[in-house]
Amino acid sequence: MNRRQFLSALAFPPLAAATPKPNIVLILADDLGYADIGAYGCKDVPTPNIDSVARNGVRFTGAYVSCPYCSPTRAGIMTGRYQTHFGHEFNPGPAEQAVENFGLPLTETAMPQRLKDLGYKTGMFGKWHLGYRPAYHPQQRGFDEFFGFLGGAHSYIDAEVDPANPILRGTDRVAKVEYTTDQFAAEAAGFIDRNKGNPFFLYVPFNAVHNPAQALPKYEDRFKGKIADPARKTFAAMLSALDDGVGLILKTLEKHKLTNNTLLVFLTDNGGPTAANTSKNDPLRGFKAQVYEGGIRIPFMMQWPGHVPKGKVYANPIIALDLLPTFVAAAGGTADASWKLDGADLLPFIAGKNKGRPHERLYWRFGQQWAIREGDWKLMSMGGPPALYNLKDDIGEARDLSNVETARVEKMGNEWETWNKRNMPPLWIPAAAPGQKKQKKKKAKA
Ligand code: CA
Repeated sequence: MNRRQFLSALAFPPLAAATPKPNIVLILADDLGYADIGAYGCKDVPTPNIDSVARNGVRFTGAYVSCPYCSPTRAGIMTGRYQTHFGHEFNPGPAEQAVENFGLPLTETAMPQRLKDLGYKTGMFGKWHLGYRPAYHPQQRGFDEFFGFLGGAHSYIDAEVDPANPILRGTDRVAKVEYTTDQFAAEAAGFIDRNKGNPFFLYVPFNAVHNPAQALPKYEDRFKGKIADPARKTFAAMLSALDDGVGLILKTLEKHKLTNNTLLVFLTDNGGPTAANTSKNDPLRGFKAQVYEGGIRIPFMMQWPGHVPKGKVYANPIIALDLLPTFVAAAGGTADASWKLDGADLLPFIAGKNKGRPHERLYWRFGQQWAIREGDWKLMSMGGPPALYNLKDDIGEARDLSNVETARVEKMGNEWETWNKRNMPPLWIPAAAPGQKKQKKKKAKA
């Protein structure tokens, strides 16, 4: 190689060496509201590690989940499809009385399987909530490794308190668990250690900050004399533990010099249930289990140094269904039309290569509740007559314009109906489903 060739090789390194398959890390919080993270306005609970993802990447201010409730949102994330297209509309109910046919339908292919097909090692540490029966176990849906629980809520400190929803390693019950937030993070770090030499997909669905309200003294002590309300103090401790957990994952990536080659996302599965855990959704209206913004708009951050802009705020609406196509694209794969994805690959949008919006419209159906967002407008119903809001001027959904903008109400209502034709009736309806009293009657119309 002469000097000119040498300099040219420096300027244009071979492509293959420059673009190895990135690792993918998906961190999902549980019942964390829009305003519960420092990067989204929380003042009394420091979350420096979670905030660092926004600083090193993109913070989305118009990010949604596809349902204001735990299990359906996860079904959407895992498939990249509106979960109502395949009947996964509701939670199963508590573990000991879960409906018999509950689980992410076996007709659907889950995210870990898609990434496994692209050569990834896959691990999950935390809350599954997508089926109890053997065929629905995470390791039957594409995860090489699993540690966590299959149900919806779990004690943070007692592995055996709920016999119907044990802590499992693979399929084996474990008798003892560390504080689950600590242990899920430690298990995730161990997975990174074991897989540092190959592309991996790591899914960490923490149960924090979902009830039960349980915190360790070492976390509560951080708020001694700072937060007086006992419920808020426990919440703060649980959130602080979650932030430490995210910090351990970030540090472990850094330890192995994997940060630059890892696409990492942090989000939560639904808005905050303020009455249950003191979480906050400001300035949004509504809570978990509602299609108001407070139930479906969530903190969502993504980092991938060199590939995702640093410190950018992205305001166009996106939805958690976008994760699957984004990950598949980052992994060098191509989503096939037969996958019938509803999500979009976000990378060209956040890089500024595509100036348009990832979605013309977004849709929700959750029993009697429904909503559609088109541009800045949102038409929604809690079961009664629809209300229309302009989110650009009225992010708190305080001024219903349905009586003023009647033509828009009709147009958007028709668009939702057209989308709804692709939905199917729910495969199960748990006895305790919120707002489901008239589900049978409503179904004819919905
Ligand atoms: Ca949840």
